[in-house]
Parts: sequence; structure tokens; C-alpha cells
Amino acid sequence: MKQDNCIFCRIISGEIPSHTIYEDDQFKVILDVAPATKGHALIIPKKHYANLYELPEDTAADAIKLAKKMMKIMTDKLNCDGFNIIQNNGEIAGQTVFHFHMHLIPRYEDDGEILKYISLHPSQEEMEETKRIITE
Ligand code: 5GP
Ligand code: ZN
Repeated sequence: MKQDNCIFCRIISGEIPSHTIYEDDQFKVILDVAPATKGHALIIPKKHYANLYELPEDTAADAIKLAKKMMKIMTDKLNCDGFNIIQNNGEIAGQTVFHFHMHLIPRYEDDGEILKYISLHPSQEEMEETKRIITE
């Protein structure tokens, strides 16, 4: 269902213009307005779901299939050297637009460390405890 205050719903409806690089019944793929690298694009389902928790499983499966297809086309056309697929859920995870989307980020040899994070150094006991919490 379209949400009037959602920027991606307004892009899907055509109310806000975008550089669309692919479209089908379920999805639109647009260039990100503030790209991390040349060709940075977003896969956006036409129906409004806030995040991956809300996205139906079949739509999630179709989204990853489309990511694979777009990644291949974009790698051929842009001649990039690698690819990141990123998908943020929740403000703490960096989500700023609360309509599910997947980032397609072409990577180039000289584009810098755009996604570096600082690693933790858990002990074996902490690793075991984390595993226990998740799997029990
Ligand atoms: P998030 O941080 O929620 O994972 O990503 C939101 C992305 O949407 C950002 O990379 C941001 O640049 C992009 N974005 C926000 N508003 C617009 C817009 O109006 N048009 C386009 N093309 N991208 C947008
Ligand atoms: Zn929306």
C-alpha cells in the first residue's frame, strides 16, 4: 500500500523523478541520488514494506535474483572490479529510508575503503556463548 510520506513510494508512483535503470511488475531499480561509487543503485519493491523483517519471503527471493541479474549487467557495462550488495534494517543499522531496498554498489580498484568497520576480538568463551544464544 502506497504511503504518502514515503519518498520511495513517491518515486515508485512517478511523483518524484528518478534515474530508472530497470523496471518490472514488482521492482524498480534506480540510481542512488548520493552514490558511494559510480553506478550505485537501489532495488526497490513497488509495494511498501519497511524492511526485510516485513518483506514476504517470495519477494525477498525475487529481490536477490534481481540483484544477481543487475550485478551481472552492471559489471559488464560499467567494467567494475567487484560488487557490494548492502541492505540496512533499522536506524541503528544505517537505514534512513524506511521502505525496503537493496543497495547495489559497483566497486573499483581505486575507490577507497568505503565500507570499512572495526572488528571486535571476542574470546572463545564469548564466541561459544553467542553461538548458544542463537542456536538454542
Ligand atoms: P539507507 O541508508 O536507508 O539504506 O539508504 C537510503 C538511500 O536512499 C541513500 O543511499 C540515499 O542516498 C538514497 N536516497 C534518499 N532519497 C533519495 C531520492 O530521493 N532519490 C534517490 N534516487 N535516492 C535517494
Ligand atoms: Zn514506501
